[in-house]
Amino acid sequence: MINKETHEEWLDKVYQLRPGYFFSFPKPHEMQIRLKSWGESLIWLRGREGEDWVSHFFSGLDGFHRLRELIQRVPREYHENVFKILAALRPRFLIESTLSTTTRIEKRWQQILGVRATAMEEYQKALAEARVLIFGAGKLGSRFATSLAQWNPQQLMIVDDEKITRNDIEESPAYAFFEVGENRGEALAKTINRMAGRTLAEGVNLSYEDLQGLRERIENSTHVFVAIDRYSPALYDKVNHIALEKKVRWSFLLVDGWDLYVGPTFFPEQSGCYHCLELTKKSDMQKPASYEAFRESLIRGEKAPDLCSPIAADLAAGFLAADAIHLFGLMPQRIEAEASLTIGRQLHVNLRTFDAYFHPMIKKPRCTVCGTV
Ligand SMILES: [Zn+2]
Repeated sequence: MINKETHEEWLDKVYQLRPGYFFSFPKPHEMQIRLKSWGESLIWLRGREGEDWVSHFFSGLDGFHRLRELIQRVPREYHENVFKILAALRPRFLIESTLSTTTRIEKRWQQILGVRATAMEEYQKALAEARVLIFGAGKLGSRFATSLAQWNPQQLMIVDDEKITRNDIEESPAYAFFEVGENRGEALAKTINRMAGRTLAEGVNLSYEDLQGLRERIENSTHVFVAIDRYSPALYDKVNHIALEKKVRWSFLLVDGWDLYVGPTFFPEQSGCYHCLELTKKSDMQKPASYEAFRESLIRGEKAPDLCSPIAADLAAGFLAADAIHLFGLMPQRIEAEASLTIGRQLHVNLRTFDAYFHPMIKKPRCTVCGTV
């Protein structure tokens, strides 16, 4: 029930739209609430022509003006209507607070959170606690790390033991101002820190052969991303084992020539593991033995060719970075596929045809890796 006392309470509050929504005023007597530019409005309120108070009043719902002040912009005979409109808008569209605690919501949150704004505090908390480990500082890893840094996690650690080559400078913006021969992970961290204006990232010059080193880094992370330019089953296997043992979630990213793979994200004890994914992959092959022979040679130390084009890397890295907020923000009990690009599935895009597929992530009951943990 809305009554005079409620109105009196509201007058001392300030209101603003939840993140993601924005006002538009096509005419001074019209107000729209929108989530996007290219499409219909969610709310379209039209006063009579000449009633400029509509835009004057609603544009003041910006988190800085008390309702008591704003209502002065509305002719008295409409006050009752305005309270009714506010009552209708409040549950879905408005954040209510007292002036002293109101802060302007950061742009970076507005765009991605959209209708999930109610979970904003949860996301912010998760990011403030996120200690991210990224394997790879090549085309894929450098792009992914710089994108991910925009979320401003607590800490970003980049593991890479290669030196900057002429190719790195030509193919990855992060290295445009570095010299050939510098350590790649450290250079990438410098770029990110310069962008962030603080010590957000650290480059770790660590060989992927150093199991103890890998274990320590993974153990101290809340999330691991593997973004190597070359198909690297030996590293995937190692990360998979350690992540399962230490119960750390990790995500897979690969550009394999014309094929781009984003995800899945593995959740120890909940989702299947990388080995389950391999079993699924092989079960779809006509000649799994030919693949197995190649995979084994890679595990023995042969290097797969670098099939990652910088342009495909932009796409793949962008997709996973956009999903990262969902991976950090989700509490284990709320993990559900609809809330993320890479939970329970892998996005596969064929860049020749631009056909896109979702491969479901299936936990194999007879998996020798995650089934026995
Ligand atoms: Zn498994």
